[in-house]
Amino acid sequence: MNISEILNHLGEDREQYFNAISPPIIQSSNFAFPNLHQFRTAFADELNQHVYSRGNNPTVEILRKKLAALEGTEDALVFSSGAGAIAAAVIGNVQTGDHIICQQAPYSWTSALLRKFLARFGVEHTFVDGTDLRNIEAAYRPNTKVLYLESPNTMTFECQDLAACATWAKAKGVVTMIDNSYSSPLYQQPATFGIDIVLHSGTKYLNGHSDVVVGVLCASKEMVRKLFESELMTLGGILSPHDAALVIRGLRTLPLRLQRSDASARWILDKLDDHPKVERVWYPFHHQFEQLELAQKQMGGCGGLFSVQFKTDSPEKMEAFIHRLKRFLMAVSWGGHESLIIPTIGFYHIPGRENPTIPWTFCRFYIGLEEPEWLWEDLEQAMEVL
Ligand SMILES: *Cc1c(COP(=O)(O)O)cnc(C)c1O
Repeated sequence: MNISEILNHLGEDREQYFNAISPPIIQSSNFAFPNLHQFRTAFADELNQHVYSRGNNPTVEILRKKLAALEGTEDALVFSSGAGAIAAAVIGNVQTGDHIICQQAPYSWTSALLRKFLARFGVEHTFVDGTDLRNIEAAYRPNTKVLYLESPNTMTFECQDLAACATWAKAKGVVTMIDNSYSSPLYQQPATFGIDIVLHSGTKYLNGHSDVVVGVLCASKEMVRKLFESELMTLGGILSPHDAALVIRGLRTLPLRLQRSDASARWILDKLDDHPKVERVWYPFHHQFEQLELAQKQMGGCGGLFSVQFKTDSPEKMEAFIHRLKRFLMAVSWGGHESLIIPTIGFYHIPGRENPTIPWTFCRFYIGLEEPEWLWEDLEQAMEVL
């Protein structure tokens, strides 16, 4: 389906609500039935009917339809956070004694889900370098039930070959899932490569305004129904109708925002290429990127996230650089209107957060919707102290 059709019309039934352009926020926990027949019909299909808003809600449903269409899957669920969507997908596909293969550097709380949470329930896991399918094959055990991918991930942007992973997993009866937050459905549609479940922190690009925390899960009708009936309904991590309306609004401008971030990031990366204080950069479509060919094969673009390793001899200079930046906010998350920096030197002193593969000279940047020239001015003046 055409992207404009999805973002402007799909799921919206304006005659139901006074021909309003902007869909109403149906702020209701429950729905009344005029007769027993309709009551029974609705109860038989809580996923698609309107019975109680923990299950389905008309405003949330509009969002679900748009997200499924964007990812090219049959159906979608939304959750109160990306972490909630990820947990539902993983938990819903394992039981005690099962084993999960996961790419080696997923989002931190995804890693915690496997290492801390699921380990308590006797679910095993192996983290592997997913840049080579042979590592995934070698980690396989007869009790492997899930292959968890994050391609690219969001610090160093390691990729997995989605088509090869999906083909291998299908032959083994292993369910594949991917955190697709980095690319958004506009730049990568994992279902087209055969991946079973596509997950998002919709907090990032999909909402895009740094004002909602939301999770997305896209999959087949059968998988969505299974996860709806257990993880969504029993754990109850749902999105409110009000937040759903904000995300619907955010989605309207997704292509514009993503193209702007992508173009500005590339413009700034070009400048960084020639800069004497830059050791190297990480960006999937950058000429220095080890997996450039694979990234270009399965992605349509990259967006606004990249990382830089700076050339400097002292942590004090690194700290001075960070304090001189005025137009980049120091904050976690990304995908909103505002440009951001996460300096690894900011969390290296916290036990458990040291990462031997990422040096203290490393910073992750997110380029938002500001003018790239204005951002570059700030970066350039700050780099003088390195
Ligand atoms: C932010 C993020 C998450 C977690 O999503 P929340 O909406 O914060 O729960 C998961 N994966 C990636 C790649 C993220 O950036």
